[in-house]
Amino acid sequence: MERMNCQVELLSPILDDVYDVVLKPQQSFDYIAGQYLQVVMANDDKRPFTIANAPGEQHLQLHIGATPENLYAGQVLERMRTEGQIDIEMPFGRSVIEQTPERDVLIMVGGTGFSYAKALIEALNQMPHSVNVYLYWGGRNLGGLYLYELAQQWHDAGQVQFNPVIEQPIAQWQYHTGLVHEAVLSDFASLKDVDVYVAGRFEMAAVARDAFFAKGLIASQLHGDAYEFI
Ligand SMILES: Cc1cc2nc3c(=O)[nH]c(=O)nc-3n(C[C@H](O)[C@H](O)[C@H](O)COP(=O)(O)OP(=O)(O)OC[C@H]3O[C@@H](n4cnc5c(N)ncnc54)[C@H](O)[C@@H]3O)c2cc1C
Repeated sequence: MERMNCQVELLSPILDDVYDVVLKPQQSFDYIAGQYLQVVMANDDKRPFTIANAPGEQHLQLHIGATPENLYAGQVLERMRTEGQIDIEMPFGRSVIEQTPERDVLIMVGGTGFSYAKALIEALNQMPHSVNVYLYWGGRNLGGLYLYELAQQWHDAGQVQFNPVIEQPIAQWQYHTGLVHEAVLSDFASLKDVDVYVAGRFEMAAVARDAFFAKGLIASQLHGDAYEFI
């Protein structure tokens, strides 16, 4: 793990309260798709954000969800905006995809957990593989699925099977409604033969773990950094 200073190259809203951030570290860096960094606000105050792009680029991308009441993320954005640079530590996390998968991959994310899905899918798209990749992305509403078109492009290219999930039905919505893990449960008779990758609120990660184990998922096939915190 290394501490490094980064220039803030971009800080721009994607949709509603989600911001696209691009950081350019001042030194070389290394990580694996699915890992996260920590923004150093102080030595005893470090805030985790998933790296949203797969390795291989000269920058680090983040998606930061900052509703007005979310000071935790809002303060990070404010520091980046006013100082134009930020200290980070990286890499962290073991819920990664580094090698060609041997089993089908099911990525289930809520809200800005999509940044995790994006890094994993970009990495998978660079690997020759023959497994199915399922993406379930849950949002409170359509605005929560802030890069819907990107996920749809992966779907149209045959790279993932994208299943958007919103909590309440809206006119002409043909996909799942409700909570994202419920959509997975309704589509899969068994989770015995898949590797599952999870990112989102801790409450979601916890409830999904219990429900997925009951559907046959083996503990070693469940991946998510949330599980190191809860
Ligand atoms: C290692 C790590 C990395 C992180 N990386 C980031 C990051 O890159 N960007 C960032 O903004 N934050 C990050 N966080 C903070 C935190 O994980 C996010 O703020 C959180 O996932 C964002 O949720 P949301 O508000 O976007 O989702 P919401 O809009 O609250 O929820 C989206 C969907 O998740 C599901 N869901 C939510 N709550 C529940 C529940 N109680 N039960 C069942 N399902 C539920 C539902 O399907 C819901 O529609 C990170 C935290 C950690 C520990």
